[in-house]
Amino acid sequence: MTCQSYPPPTRKCMKAIFARTVFDSTGTPTVEVDLITDLGLFRAAVPSSLTAGIYEAQELRDQSNDYHGKGVAAAIDNINTIIAPELLKQDFDVTEQDKVDQFLIDLDKTPNKSRFGSNAILGISLAVCKAGAAKRGLPLYRHIADLAGIKDLIIPVPAFNVLSGGTHAGNKLTFQEFLILPTGATSFAEAMKMGSEVYHHLKKVIQDKYKGAGTAQSNEGGFAPPNLKATKDALQFIVKAIRLAGYTGRVEIGIDAAASEFFKKGAYNLDFKNPKSNPKKFQKPANLLKTYTQLLKTFPIVSLEDPFDKEDFNSWKTMTEKVNIQIVADELTATNPQRIQQAIEQNACNCALLRINQIGTISEAIKIHLFAKENGWGTMVAHTSGETEDTFIADLAVGLSTGQIKCGAPSRSERIAKYNQILRIEEELGKDVRYAGKAFMRPL
Ligand code: PGA
Ligand code: ZN
Repeated sequence: MTCQSYPPPTRKCMKAIFARTVFDSTGTPTVEVDLITDLGLFRAAVPSSLTAGIYEAQELRDQSNDYHGKGVAAAIDNINTIIAPELLKQDFDVTEQDKVDQFLIDLDKTPNKSRFGSNAILGISLAVCKAGAAKRGLPLYRHIADLAGIKDLIIPVPAFNVLSGGTHAGNKLTFQEFLILPTGATSFAEAMKMGSEVYHHLKKVIQDKYKGAGTAQSNEGGFAPPNLKATKDALQFIVKAIRLAGYTGRVEIGIDAAASEFFKKGAYNLDFKNPKSNPKKFQKPANLLKTYTQLLKTFPIVSLEDPFDKEDFNSWKTMTEKVNIQIVADELTATNPQRIQQAIEQNACNCALLRINQIGTISEAIKIHLFAKENGWGTMVAHTSGETEDTFIADLAVGLSTGQIKCGAPSRSERIAKYNQILRIEEELGKDVRYAGKAFMRPL
């Protein structure tokens, strides 16, 4: 495949765009885009979810026998043979993020980016944003803040996935993620220290209980002990690890139940990974709500994501009105403006996960963040199960001052790369920046 290149035309600076296949952290193909400008090469790799839902922008996957139907040759071809030549002809400046993204949306012509694939469109949008920052001589987070009209930068609280279950792990745990949030740290550097220490204490707690096999990891780096089944046990392990590390009260807990994965015909099957699960034990929404409120009474939980199925708006609303913690929508709102509007109208939750792979362009992600904030919600920038070494979302979380970010465990390089980038940003900003801490939901 040759690179699409046009003769140097103009005062503007996009010279060539080239896409290739690389691999994400699950060993699945994904799209990488190189954008050449007069300032050099800007590269972006696209993350991809294991559990993508119907309300998200749609990736293009080849559906051939190669890679179990997960190849991205068509998406790459779309970039190299259609999008790149058309985009280069427009002669946009790389700082015109809005115009570039709108052009990509219009060229695709579908409401969910399914013609070219959201994976094709996102790769270009990310690369243009990086090139735009360079053209303005600014760090990426500052460029993103300017695109969003945000002045005060806040360093986010990291939500580390330390224990995993659900469809992310081959164990028996129902809920997908058990997270720790160092809300009592005074800086991101200290939050990393706390996260790392608790994670390693947890490893020891699990090893003591289950011996060697206990410290298998999920694809986000959380531990996934094969014999751990009960939610309460998982939470007790975490509370113990926090205590052993000396951070009781300063490190709090989050859960991503990912409940759409175990909702069937009006009930929740908490034993959904057991092929012989007993339908009589499936929980009605009201029972599951009770289970959550019980957990909230016992454990220092400050954030609960996807507690109910993405169509079970009533249960979401009841939960949000009943409890006093952050209720986060991932599959419910899918970083989709219409779904967020609907969730706001129904008072279904108070925080949206912000995932660039679910929407497909940076301009739209920024608008969604601003819309959520206008409505009093929090936003949490998040990674996906299939990540790459690209650290864009670290700059996104700082640039938008979301106050919180989740990128997996404090281990595995595709997760750590993002956290390391925030360490660098915090160092660069020095005294000019505040760590969100306990105000992670409404940091500004
Ligand atoms: P996913 O999981 O990447 O599989 O969607 C992440 C999450 O649910 O937050
Ligand atoms: Zn989730």
